Amino acid sequence: MAFNNLGIIDSILKAVADEGYTTPTPIQQQAIPLVLQGRDLLGCAQTGTGKTAAFSIPILQLLSQHKQRKPGIKALILTPTRELAIQINESIAAYGKFTGLRHTVIFGGVSQLHQTNALKRGVDILVATPGRLLDLINQKYIDLRKLEIFVLDEADRMLDMGFIHDVKKIIALLPAKRQTLFFSATMPPEIQKLADSLLTKPALVEV
Ligand code: AMP
Repeated sequence: MAFNNLGIIDSILKAVADEGYTTPTPIQQQAIPLVLQGRDLLGCAQTGTGKTAAFSIPILQLLSQHKQRKPGIKALILTPTRELAIQINESIAAYGKFTGLRHTVIFGGVSQLHQTNALKRGVDILVATPGRLLDLINQKYIDLRKLEIFVLDEADRMLDMGFIHDVKKIIALLPAKRQTLFFSATMPPEIQKLADSLLTKPALVEV
């Protein structure tokens, strides 16, 4: 299986080739076609499996195939740590470099000025950690009413790190009609319950 058998558009295939990737990882082979079809996804996968590209590539493609470019945040990727958030944003920059889609990353522990300036310029894809996201929503820098795709990354770590309450508050603000991609390395009962409440007829991907 090669990247060009997964239904990926040329602009993204070129960017992926520029990264030096030749073969999609198992989670990419399974997840990319399903996400492109608009399916909800429950992915049981750890960091290191290539899961970032498994969700970022089809999100970039779905958004770049919109007939009109309307303003507003259309995809949100929620992840527990600043390091993961930065990595995901860098991956989106790399795979999306020929799409013209705008993206940024927000996380706590630093001044918000740089982040709010980026938000004011306009963002299609937002990568965020929960606390700073809620903070900037409360300050009205972020409006999620145009959201189409929501990714919850490392759900079990969100629970371990005590972020699950913030995550649930954020989810309550999202449009009900959306595509949801849920990733967790483990599935403790509370995480399974959350997945059940968020996903509609999800495709299950395990690696
Ligand atoms: P992740 O699990 O998303 O954190 O990715 C782990 C690492 O694998 C990252 O450094 C990616 O750049 C790299 N990677 C992801 N997909 C591929 C691929 N298909 N071929 C080679 N490297 C990849």
